[in-house]
Amino acid sequence: MKRWILLAVIALLGISLMAGILDEIKARGYIIMGTEATFPPFEFRNEKNEVVGFDIDIGRKIAEALGVELKIIDMPFDSLIPSLVTKKIDMAIAAMTITEERKKSVSFSDSYFRAGQVIVVRKGYPPIKTLEELKGKKVAVQQGTTGDLIVSEIEGVQISRFTRFTDAFLELMNKRVDAVVLDFAPARAYVAMYPQLIITSDVLSEEEYGIAVRKEDTDLLEFINDVLRTMKKSPYDLLVEKWFSQ
Ligand code: GLN
Repeated sequence: MKRWILLAVIALLGISLMAGILDEIKARGYIIMGTEATFPPFEFRNEKNEVVGFDIDIGRKIAEALGVELKIIDMPFDSLIPSLVTKKIDMAIAAMTITEERKKSVSFSDSYFRAGQVIVVRKGYPPIKTLEELKGKKVAVQQGTTGDLIVSEIEGVQISRFTRFTDAFLELMNKRVDAVVLDFAPARAYVAMYPQLIITSDVLSEEEYGIAVRKEDTDLLEFINDVLRTMKKSPYDLLVEKWFSQ
């Protein structure tokens, strides 16, 4: 009899250890999303100092589908993966490019946006069209981003690395650097905000954004992919599925 109880306790313990992060999130009633909010239109602060944007809305859809609240932690971009690994956040939604290097420490969802780097300068400054033309120039990037990586590979560039893009752009406007390199959609947003700036290059890289989760959280990864797939389906896609799926 005693032995039977012991076995039952061991089995229950086993089940609770096996229960994934999704059960933990549902039990606590919220999911924690990490992001870096100087990246409009993906994540930025509105007039009320609330973090809003495309990625935040995706985070809300995921939380909604789980029936929990969304908590957002705004942190330096290069803290996102360490914070995931040390369980300070459950997912990073931060216009984060899916890269082989990052995949060594985290898993990525299906891609949800195509992106690429561009070069921004002040209007009236000789247009910089290619990465090679950045040689001998002072360039501001955000620490730990793919822009940082690409510019770091060019010899003879003076790089200034910033935690916040707002600071990188202040540096550009105050003429302390010659260019900022970043993803095209936020570049457009900053150029729209500061009319004295201009994008002078084509899109210089091919990148895709994914949502990052811990490698062991396969249940959360599947759930996120389901939410993304559902969001991507148009009413037309749903009709095709309804009438032609057999
Ligand atoms: N897409 C770039 C990267 O993943 C920049 C992201 C960001 O600054 N939020 O490195």
